[in-house]
Amino acid sequence: MIKKELYGALNGANIFKYTIVGEIIVSIIDFGARIVSLLVPDKSGKLFDVALKESVEDFLTSGSYMGATIGRCANRIGEGGFEIDGNSYKIRHKENAAHLHGGKIGFDKKQFKVSAVSENALTMTCFSPDGEEGYPGNLDFSVTFTVKNKSLVIEYRAVCDKDTVFNPTNHTYFNLNGESDGSILDNVISLNADSYLPTNKLLLPTGEVKSVEGTPFDFRKEKPIGRDIDSGDADLLIAGGYDHNFCLDKEHFATAYSYKTGIKMDAFTDMPGVQFYTGNFLKASGNCVYDSRAGFCLETQFYPDAIHHPEWKSPILKKNEKFYSKTEYRFSLKE
Ligand code: BGC
Repeated sequence: MIKKELYGALNGANIFKYTIVGEIIVSIIDFGARIVSLLVPDKSGKLFDVALKESVEDFLTSGSYMGATIGRCANRIGEGGFEIDGNSYKIRHKENAAHLHGGKIGFDKKQFKVSAVSENALTMTCFSPDGEEGYPGNLDFSVTFTVKNKSLVIEYRAVCDKDTVFNPTNHTYFNLNGESDGSILDNVISLNADSYLPTNKLLLPTGEVKSVEGTPFDFRKEKPIGRDIDSGDADLLIAGGYDHNFCLDKEHFATAYSYKTGIKMDAFTDMPGVQFYTGNFLKASGNCVYDSRAGFCLETQFYPDAIHHPEWKSPILKKNEKFYSKTEYRFSLKE
């Protein structure tokens, strides 16, 4: 069942909330196709909201991208732009910073249209015109949220009339203790990744693909997120915690759980990377009610700045080719 309600308004336009009610209850708004609530039963059957939230006013300014669908290109692109087929494109970025999450008006700040609603699924679409934020081509995008048993499945589809860079993701901040708990440092996580990408001061990958062995980035065996986060490791210091791409080669790439609620989340994707971000900059985000590290993100994607690293899987979406990718967050109880 899907319920539609008025959620708020921004710039004089109404924002509607669509709630998919199943074994988990997921609410998504049509501004930025943002997940604003994710209710999951704990070990006693009580529903906990495991997704952080912010006020409508903060959507335009906070820089936290809370719950949002991100596009055209998630994460960072360096050098102020890129070249495709001999054409160079300049893309919007802040001074002395890399381009981030699609630019000033990324998908997170666009009004989506609802194009399909069924018992347990919702599709939202947006159009990104040629040259928007500097990206080539007219691009039609859709994102489908489906609740299946205790899973949330997110599917991304797109087609563009020129070769372009395309790399969507979702920016939900999870706290499996419940969003109001305030810290994710005791959430336990394992990441099925043998390597990660160290970054420079702009948080752009240096190009090195580094083994996690013997580093705080080794999550191949589960550990609390907070165990090594303040170990003084140089790569962690740059980002104030984890804010790095982990290189994936297994569809089932992460398992996380909370001792407090017993809520467990398994994550699956067909993408080659995931940005594991521990909300290091949350406190500085607008009127954010949370402290830093109150939520963690698992942003599935092509490697950051892959357009400048031909040795990595290419984020180029070819003219008139169909883009499809799928990520699943599957909830259960920790045994
Ligand atoms: C980035 C962080 C950034 C955050 C919110 C994450 O995906 O990796 O560096 O601060 O998004 O903007």
